Amino acid sequence: MTFIRNVQDFTCAHCGYFVKGDGYTNHCPKCLWSKHIDIEPGDRAAICGGMMEPIGIEIFPKRTVIKQRCVTCGHLWNNSASEDDDSTRLIALSKMPPPGFFMIDTSVHATVGKKNVKKKGLKNKR
Ligand SMILES: [Zn+2]
Ligand SMILES: [Zn+2]
Repeated sequence: MTFIRNVQDFTCAHCGYFVKGDGYTNHCPKCLWSKHIDIEPGDRAAICGGMMEPIGIEIFPKRTVIKQRCVTCGHLWNNSASEDDDSTRLIALSKMPPPGFFMIDTSVHATVGKKNVKKKGLKNKR
């Protein structure tokens, strides 16, 4: 897979933050959203143009990948996190449920990945 370098500044269409393009980052470092513009990373060839919502992150030994989903067409995308990315947002994403959990009652979300908390919550209710 060839990465086509394309240096381009852009204004985040989600939060309005001005993003200084470095040719590799195509997502907003503040809210981590991006636009569905690539078919291959960097080619800007997708015609969709929908907003790509960050739905989670995956941490590898040498890099962090932001998982995004296009809100228009549902396309799933792995976007490499950049060191400029808002670490608070990244941490928040790491605690989000994986895709597939989104249709379930929202009260479940806070407890995903924390079985102990879930148990405690049930106890308190009873
Ligand atoms: Zn943004
Ligand atoms: Zn799309």
